[in-house]
Amino acid sequence: MKTEFTLAQLADPDIAEADKILRKCVHCGFCTATCPTYVLLGDELDSPRGRIYLIKEMLEKDKPPTAEVVKHIDRCLSCLACMTTCPSGVNYMHLVDQARVKVEKEYVRPLPERLLRAVLAFVLPRPKLFRLSMILARLARPLAVLLPSSPPGATTPTFFRRIKAMLALAPASLPSPGAAPGTAFPAAGTRRGRVALLQGCAQQVLAPRINQAAINLLTRHGIEVVLVADEQCCGALTHHMGDDADALARARANISVWTNEMARGGLDAILVTASGCGTVIKDYGFLLREDRDYAARAETISALAKDITEYVASLDLPVPQGRSDLVIAYHSACSLQHGQKITQLPKDLLSKNGFVVKDVPESHLCCGSAGTYNILQPDIANRLRDRKVANIATVKPDMIAAGNIGCMVQIAGGTSVPVVHTIELLDWATGGSRPGLN
Ligand code: SF4
Ligand code: SF4
Repeated sequence: MKTEFTLAQLADPDIAEADKILRKCVHCGFCTATCPTYVLLGDELDSPRGRIYLIKEMLEKDKPPTAEVVKHIDRCLSCLACMTTCPSGVNYMHLVDQARVKVEKEYVRPLPERLLRAVLAFVLPRPKLFRLSMILARLARPLAVLLPSSPPGATTPTFFRRIKAMLALAPASLPSPGAAPGTAFPAAGTRRGRVALLQGCAQQVLAPRINQAAINLLTRHGIEVVLVADEQCCGALTHHMGDDADALARARANISVWTNEMARGGLDAILVTASGCGTVIKDYGFLLREDRDYAARAETISALAKDITEYVASLDLPVPQGRSDLVIAYHSACSLQHGQKITQLPKDLLSKNGFVVKDVPESHLCCGSAGTYNILQPDIANRLRDRKVANIATVKPDMIAAGNIGCMVQIAGGTSVPVVHTIELLDWATGGSRPGLN
């Protein structure tokens, strides 16, 4: 794609990066076929190619984004299916991230939307506050019936529709909190390694059982696990909302505490059980490339970050003797398959450990979770969830496995089939307890 940035514009490293990305796009449109919003809405401006044009125009003209541009960027799930499909290697992720930052800085959203986004950005990364908000949302949930629903086929939600979606996501009950930050779990027997396990923010409130399963499996196989004190939300939530100042501050804080932990006791890896977080931590090196104080350490941390399944596969665990006849539908989270290019590994681990693993039709399409997307764009998100659940039902599973809490909550909202994390099944198959689902 031909670009027309001025030399002055190209002096900005972000614009130079955008120029490099845009020039790779050859307008072929292959990406449109796998884009969930294009598949649902059929509008070129809701496809990757259409959005790339809009972003190019917005950056070249260097004017505040219009409402129309913001609408189509907001509808993008950042699922990154387009990056998997693109034959030219267009890094859509870095392009849309940059567009979101410009929208956040230069576009004035209506006041109720600004307030809602500010509340989400403040509450979600803070586990104690998030827990309190979930309790309040549960109490307020009966009132949701009073709020208006969207008409069929709607794609632009009202403020109250978003509030209704937020209340619907509150669970009926919350589990007790998991282990406290700063806790170390010693390896059983001879120590083979030492890792940090990202505590996450929403996940530690909604399903602390996931990290507990990871801790149980790892320690049982000789790996010491540390929950590093003063660790923060990885920054993914605010990063995807365009609030780079907040996201980068969190990245720097995490890099500092993990680097200190490495110096104190050594770390073989920083493990992540929520693939949405893993994708962003693996990108810290890029996000902080212009920061002289942090660039080198950010690269080191990104290289150490591993999805839990990557690390478990590297341990080469003994194959269990017994086999389960449970049929597992494996939901491939977008952040894992498109963001981190981890597709076959979790399925191989599950098969090797005795489960009957089934691929889900249209597995490349997002379930609609996408961070805060199912609150901010609930109508598109619900259509994607219903499509995903219908596809899952075709393989008649006993359980659904996924590697990302956002997907687990989203899918569980549309089915009665138990939804578990891949690591819970691996822990169970290798001597741990059956997933408790609470
Ligand atoms: S990230 Fe997903 S929703 Fe956004 S343009 Fe790419 S494929 Fe479409
Ligand atoms: S597939 Fe890649 S090169 Fe083709 S239009 Fe999409 S982003 Fe551009």
